[in-house]
Amino acid sequence: MSDCLFCKILAGEIPSDKVYEDDKVYVFKDIYPKADVHLLMIPREHVDSLNELDESHDALMAHMMRLLPKLAKEQGLDTGYRTIINTGPGGGQEVFHLHIHLMGGDHLPGFR
Ligand code: AMP
Ligand code: ZN
Repeated sequence: MSDCLFCKILAGEIPSDKVYEDDKVYVFKDIYPKADVHLLMIPREHVDSLNELDESHDALMAHMMRLLPKLAKEQGLDTGYRTIINTGPGGGQEVFHLHIHLMGGDHLPGFR
């Protein structure tokens, strides 16, 4: 996926503000934060969106879900946080590499 922005971030071709990484995922700060804490969690494997997931991704997705509360705690989000996955143009997805928004703190946006 040479034209994928987040694959380029994973390859180090585009700079990013890393928060966490392991063999399956990479987490970095959203460049246009919409809350005091606004992170993006992406799988190292390129997947366009939720729509392209199959059984082979089950362990990966479970790993991502279970990482979220740990990251939220590290970010000091003791009272809670919001997770968002936009899917497809109609869902507001702009970057077609699956990602989970992790947001919290002040200035948490509402749904639109
Ligand atoms: P979505 O609309 O769900 O596809 O979200 C894409 C997110 O990627 C937006 O919140 C953007 O602010 C963010 N974004 C775009 N380019 C970059 C970048 N180079 N580094 C970090 N975040 C980015
Ligand atoms: Zn990608």
